Amino acid sequence: MKPGATDVRTIEELERTFRGSEELARRLSRVIHERFNQARKVLGLDSIKIMNFCGTHEWTIVHFGLRSLMPKGLELVAGPGCPVCVTPSKYIEDAIRLSLDGIRVYTYGDTYKLRTINEVRGVTSLEEAKAMGGDVKLVLNILEAIKDSRNNGKEAVFLGIGFETAAPAYAQAVLSGKMPDNLKLLSLAKLTPPAMFYAMDILREKPPEPPVMGVIAPGHVSTITGAKAWEPVAENYSVPVVVSGFEPLDVLLSIAEILRQIISREAKVKIEYTRAVTWSGDLKAQAMIHKVFETVDDAWRGIGFFPLSGLRLRDSFARMDAFKQFGIKEIRPEEWRKDTPPGCRCAEVTLGKAKPTDCPMFLKKCTPEKPYGPCMVSLEGTCAVWARFGGGGVADEIARELGL
Ligand code: SF4
Repeated sequence: MKPGATDVRTIEELERTFRGSEELARRLSRVIHERFNQARKVLGLDSIKIMNFCGTHEWTIVHFGLRSLMPKGLELVAGPGCPVCVTPSKYIEDAIRLSLDGIRVYTYGDTYKLRTINEVRGVTSLEEAKAMGGDVKLVLNILEAIKDSRNNGKEAVFLGIGFETAAPAYAQAVLSGKMPDNLKLLSLAKLTPPAMFYAMDILREKPPEPPVMGVIAPGHVSTITGAKAWEPVAENYSVPVVVSGFEPLDVLLSIAEILRQIISREAKVKIEYTRAVTWSGDLKAQAMIHKVFETVDDAWRGIGFFPLSGLRLRDSFARMDAFKQFGIKEIRPEEWRKDTPPGCRCAEVTLGKAKPTDCPMFLKKCTPEKPYGPCMVSLEGTCAVWARFGGGGVADEIARELGL
């Protein structure tokens, strides 16, 4: 079976096809080396940057050592595709306050350890709030929160963090009529294209050293938005964009395609992840999101305030809206401040301007067990991925020594 085929049926088949073929990986690596040399000549550049927007792609790249397969001068930089990393400190502080006031806060496990910049009654994370008697409960999804809050009848709030992939589940919960009156949704869901535009602008600031010349776009987000969501990136920045799956061969194929387009001076959106993504996406999910949420300008932790990048419940669902029911104030654009802890370089890491290893606290003051900055918390955070799987570590050093 060929990678890209749409009829992969089982996990075993998927792994055999996209992880099991060493020979194919070697051939792809050779193709990437050849194409990189041609692309460099076409662009007249010594080096080329490709941005992998999404934290799950960073996981694949680091976990499978893909950077060590890249030619010297071809740099893969991580983008802002980790929802936990970009959730503003202020809203976690609001959640801590609610939990200490006896309102049950349902949260995902990775948000539990996220540290705030301001203390709330001596507490800087939901984990600490729970230790201090706050009512915090870990759940895997909003359905668990619905079930639990129905059973106990306590006033409760669900922290609705995530990107376009999470939003349909929240919309479905709201529309299903199953949310009990005592449960509110704090919608902190975000839309990814505005952050990608911002990251592209930052990474192409003068002097561009080296410039971003291609983008690996998030496969899971694109199952909802469709590949068409990335067309403005290809058009406005004149770079190839490839919507990629998350297996190592998916990523290698996507890099090879980006280089092919550079050589033939194309800047198109292509779908590598054809087994899950279509051009138009999931129209039913898009309609549900539109029905339940309005799109608002929103704050992204550490990196800025972007137009039309957040989802908030429409007025018709005000009775389920934690912002309205608990009087939680929205961050206004003029109030936005860089809300990463002192010395943490997470904002630069999130925008691909620095590597986790550039931060003096990496694996010293800041570890996956005791995260100091937001990029060390979630499995999708670049610092957490590098800490767990050695990104920028031994594999890269050996590859450099061997001149690979
Ligand atoms: S290692 Fe920790 S402190 Fe440093 S940038 Fe990453 S998250 Fe921030």
